[in-house]
Amino acid sequence: MVDWIEQWHHDITDVSRLPLPEELEHPPCMVDRRPSAARRRARQVAPASRLRDCCDYHGQDWAAASEAAIRLLSRATAEGLTGEELAERVIALAVAEGTGDRDVEAIRCLVSTVDPLMLDDDGGIYEGRHRIQAMIDQGVRRTVLVRLVLIDPTTGQPA
Ligand SMILES: [Zn+2]
Repeated sequence: MVDWIEQWHHDITDVSRLPLPEELEHPPCMVDRRPSAARRRARQVAPASRLRDCCDYHGQDWAAASEAAIRLLSRATAEGLTGEELAERVIALAVAEGTGDRDVEAIRCLVSTVDPLMLDDDGGIYEGRHRIQAMIDQGVRRTVLVRLVLIDPTTGQPA
């Protein structure tokens, strides 16, 4: 058994380049409403950015959370942090800035290595389909994806 070294990366990603979430079975506002690629591009230009109270996903301002996460990731990265330490520092910085609890939680679920937005090896959505759907609906331009790279401890190279 090889004990791979986990290396977490935070990638700033254009929402328009993410795959469309499929197979959403809840909440009702997300069932069976997969926007076409054309409609989705239109949303990116003219987003319906109003927050809705139909569910927690649509009630969150993902553009604000994403931009705050990106800004604080840049700051914490400049301090030389990576991975989970980087994520914890971003959350601490958000709290220190007086960010509201709900937005702190949204930032946490973008930068934390627990339940982040992740793609699978085939480029599909591994985690975060509901958050990504809400971002598409809100016309969010860019957000943060987390990527895990396993490093071979003997060679120091990706597995
Ligand atoms: Zn909703």
